[in-house]
Amino acid sequence: KSLELLDEMKKLIVEYGLEEKCSAHITGCLGFCEKGPIVKIFPKDTFYTKVQPEDAREIIETDIIKDELVNRLLYKLPGTEEEIPSQDDIPFYKKQLRIALRNCGIINPEVIEEYIGYGGYLALGKCLEEYSREEVIDIIKDSGLRGRGGGGFPTGLKWEFTKNSESDEKYVICNADEGDPGAFMDRSILEGDPHSVIEAMAIAAYVIGAKQGYVYIRAEYPLAIERLGKAIEQAREIGILGDNILGTDFSFNLGMKFGAGAFVCGEETALINSVEGQRGEPNPKPPFPSTSGLYGKPTLINNVETYANIPVIISKGAEWFNSVGTEKSKGTKVFALAGKVNNIGLVEVPMGTTLREILYDIGGGIQKGREFKAVQTGGPSGGCITAEDLDTPIDYDSLVAKGSMMGSGGMIVMDEDNCMVDIAKFYLEFTLDESCGKCTPCRIGNKRLYEILCKISDGKATEEDLDNLEDLSNIIKDTSLCALGQSAPNPVLSTIKSFRKEYEEHVLNHK
Ligand code: SF4
Repeated sequence: KSLELLDEMKKLIVEYGLEEKCSAHITGCLGFCEKGPIVKIFPKDTFYTKVQPEDAREIIETDIIKDELVNRLLYKLPGTEEEIPSQDDIPFYKKQLRIALRNCGIINPEVIEEYIGYGGYLALGKCLEEYSREEVIDIIKDSGLRGRGGGGFPTGLKWEFTKNSESDEKYVICNADEGDPGAFMDRSILEGDPHSVIEAMAIAAYVIGAKQGYVYIRAEYPLAIERLGKAIEQAREIGILGDNILGTDFSFNLGMKFGAGAFVCGEETALINSVEGQRGEPNPKPPFPSTSGLYGKPTLINNVETYANIPVIISKGAEWFNSVGTEKSKGTKVFALAGKVNNIGLVEVPMGTTLREILYDIGGGIQKGREFKAVQTGGPSGGCITAEDLDTPIDYDSLVAKGSMMGSGGMIVMDEDNCMVDIAKFYLEFTLDESCGKCTPCRIGNKRLYEILCKISDGKATEEDLDNLEDLSNIIKDTSLCALGQSAPNPVLSTIKSFRKEYEEHVLNHK
């Protein structure tokens, strides 16, 4: 529909002879999936929702030619007739702060000049001309940026470790193997602002001393691949990638490697194996990639969202970035809000925003006025948070303290109708499918765990099964080789902890 709408707008602009006055462009995701397709008129900032191709003529005639609003297409405050013409005044956006998503929905991602027009590649120029490699690391460290892929490791430290590893060859990798069910943060950044990732990777390469980088991206992301590919070509054409970048002696090339959709390849050692053309299986750590990664050489791996923050941190400074967020979690986090919430979409909020604010102020509350039951953060590796913890501020440590984790940003909301045993089963089935099978606790242990869960949900389990479920979960966590296995039982343990009664009711059904 969006593409049809775009074609219609372009056609009408020609029909009305408005080529000198305006033009229609595609942009990246504005996050408000629930209300798409969206048309935004710049510079007036009019925000039209649920626009259909047949609405294009009215928008052109009314907004562009007469300079009036098409009221019926404006966002209406739920339960009222109040129309809100500007994006910033819509409740969905009011508590958001778009840093990683700053250009998504604003620039045309297929035109490098638009990225440059919004300050793009200034940070790379600054790093090459003004800052030493150590100074760039200090900026990243002072910013407090932590890895957005799930682990939350301090980014500046990771860069420093890789820079300090002695080697004739080093590599920079972007982990774009986003695999959590319902998550699409990284895809949206690559589709909406691919140059921000290219710029950050070039900066990282300069800092650690790499000449080659790879974006490891899921083959199931065709639009992201297409846009990133175009962006790499454009960057090469104007000398942002290649030899002697911006007239300096720094050279850097970037390529893409495609993943076949194995969730485990998001684990960095498995990812490296896959880039090398080997089976995507994790290796024991240490050695860590910062000392021995791709082809045995020091390798820096960050995920898409982490990289997307880098150029703006360099441009605006560490202090600007670390003024946002909480004491130990700085900046913002992008979440893919899904499940039983009214405003499904992509949101970016300052760290420290509470879950309640995300679900109710931004998310618009629970669908059909039902009761909130729990929200799963951290995807299949995370846990569920219940109503009594809705005022938990979103940051790395608070979520862990509540038995969940930040993860890469999947956030699935459940209401009173969801059975928590089924939820645990859903996530475990996912990790079971995605286990690479290399180690026994994960390969066999999770299978047995899943069988017990099936017995419970079928009403065929005993109390002993319930005890076994917890014991086996803890053994799998303690003995699996990589984070996939170590965290696979988390949804089981967290739902048992918070909803034990539900499990017991299933067991009692048996008696
Ligand atoms: Fe493979 Fe699972 Fe072992 Fe990780 S924990 S290495 S995914 S079998």
